[in-house]
Amino acid sequence: MHPVVVAFDLITLLASAVGLIVLLRGWKRALEPKAKLVFVGLLVFTLCYGLCLFVEWSWDTKALDRIEDVIGALLPMWWAFIIYAFLVGIVEQELRERESRFQELFDEAPIGYHELDTKGHITRVNRTELEMLGYRAEEMLGRPVWEFTVEKEKSQQAVAAKLAGKMPPSRAFERTLQRKDGTLLLALIEDRLLYDKAGRIRGICSTIQNITKRKQAEESLAQERNLLRTLIDNMPDNIYVKDTKSRFIVANIAVARLMGATTPDELLGKTDFDFYPQELADKYYADDQNVIKMGQLLVGREEPAVDPEGHRKWYSTTKVPLRDSRGKITGIIGISRDITARKRAEDDRERLMQTLALKNEELESVLYVTSHDLRAPLVNIQGFGNELSRSCDMIHSALRDKVKAADISEEVLTVLNKDVPEALGFILSSATRMDSLLSGLLRLSRLGQASVNIEPLDMNAMLTEVTKSMEYQVKEAGATVDIESLPPCLGDASQINQVFSNILDNALKYLDESRPGMIRIYAKVEDGQCVYCVEDNGAGIAPEHQRKIFEIFHRLEPDRKSGEGLGLTIVRHILDRHNGKVWVESEPGKGSRFFVSLPSV
Ligand code: ADP
Repeated sequence: MHPVVVAFDLITLLASAVGLIVLLRGWKRALEPKAKLVFVGLLVFTLCYGLCLFVEWSWDTKALDRIEDVIGALLPMWWAFIIYAFLVGIVEQELRERESRFQELFDEAPIGYHELDTKGHITRVNRTELEMLGYRAEEMLGRPVWEFTVEKEKSQQAVAAKLAGKMPPSRAFERTLQRKDGTLLLALIEDRLLYDKAGRIRGICSTIQNITKRKQAEESLAQERNLLRTLIDNMPDNIYVKDTKSRFIVANIAVARLMGATTPDELLGKTDFDFYPQELADKYYADDQNVIKMGQLLVGREEPAVDPEGHRKWYSTTKVPLRDSRGKITGIIGISRDITARKRAEDDRERLMQTLALKNEELESVLYVTSHDLRAPLVNIQGFGNELSRSCDMIHSALRDKVKAADISEEVLTVLNKDVPEALGFILSSATRMDSLLSGLLRLSRLGQASVNIEPLDMNAMLTEVTKSMEYQVKEAGATVDIESLPPCLGDASQINQVFSNILDNALKYLDESRPGMIRIYAKVEDGQCVYCVEDNGAGIAPEHQRKIFEIFHRLEPDRKSGEGLGLTIVRHILDRHNGKVWVESEPGKGSRFFVSLPSV
């Protein structure tokens, strides 16, 4: 046989085999019966052709040439069919892929989806909805949709009305659905009617979103808002929020009341210029804008205001910038508190302090003048008292020399020898006491007038000097004075020297004679104050006297020890003028600790 014919036959055979495979694969597809008949015909045709070739090659005969010619004539159609079948295969493959993609999308959609037939029964449902409700597909398909709702009757009526075309499908509505496990979920449902080719309603398709969490979040947000609003409205402070143009966007009842509005809403969109005199509004506006532009807080600014009745008031205002989620300043939040009462009290106090200072000055000058002026008559009393005493002595010796004792009555003798000298003694000792009191008063009044030169003080040096100046008393008392390292403080050198001299003098004066005296001076620094302590192991002071010893002329045992009862009064007076303090801790029979606090350096 000619090789070209063999090659041609082989190609045809190969084509037949490919065609056969395509046919067999095509058989598996869901094809219409007519197409299947064509396939069977082609199969027979291929088999016949193969048989012819087999016979021809086996017996090398040309007997089948005719048949072969017929088959050869059909070959173009045969090839066309193969190409057609091939292309159909590609298209079908594409369609299958698209369908599976669609199914995937349908099932994986983030919202639930179902379709209903004309009876309201579910014909299609996606996986999202199945998972949402906890059912399997076969448990939902074919069942009326309202069986899955809580308000079954209402839902059934609505579905029926929609399917009957009596009710347009609502855009979106909320429905409570019941899951398989009995729990409830709130769904947002959107319906659309489905029509057949003839334009008749053939069902409904619906999308379903689970909005339980959103609803809960909305409710809790609403609750929070309500809480915040109640809180803001019931606060006695003025609370407001303004935008960047200083227009009110939130205001509470207190602000509305202050501005003479009936409700907070009346303020919204307005500015301070709508309510306050220009001068005040300008000031508030400048503060707002400063906070907005600089982004800095304004804390506790005390500022005046005027209420609707025209009363002048004072407010302590705090303004903070309000920022959006990106940190951009979108306005300010302001809180202001009515401090009118406090301001008035402060003014009253200030006035009182001034009056008190004036009165004090007056008192000091009265004290000075009296103590100074009383000394002149006292000097006279002392002088003439002494003279009287001398005259008495003279009368006494004259009578003794020149008159016989028998001539003088007993009574006169008693007057001359006893009563008059005794009375004169009392007058003179009282005058001396009064003199010492007056000089004490004079010192006290001079102290009030002396200027205070505050400077850093080396307390180690000062206390060493004070102790040295009292060396005699220390020796007399047989005491030891121990000075520890002392921090420096601020004060007037001579006045602070006076303070420690008086306290140390007392410590030595009121030691207990039954034991060796021990005095210790130490200090510590606390909250910017140096607290010095002079501790002794002396007689001690009973609790009921511990406050009184700082009062003028208060002495515990006036007859036992000399003194004027002024030392501690002077100490307190000096410390008052230094913003310092003095106090005592003591136990009778054990000793006392006198504390002095002064500003540290
Ligand atoms: P004076 O010492 O002149 O009496 P002060 O004003 O200095 O006056 O003291 C008042 C009183 O406080 C004293 O009379 C004394 O009774 C008591 N006092 C003061 N310091 C001490 C002390 N260290 N120990 C015991 N008593 C004291």
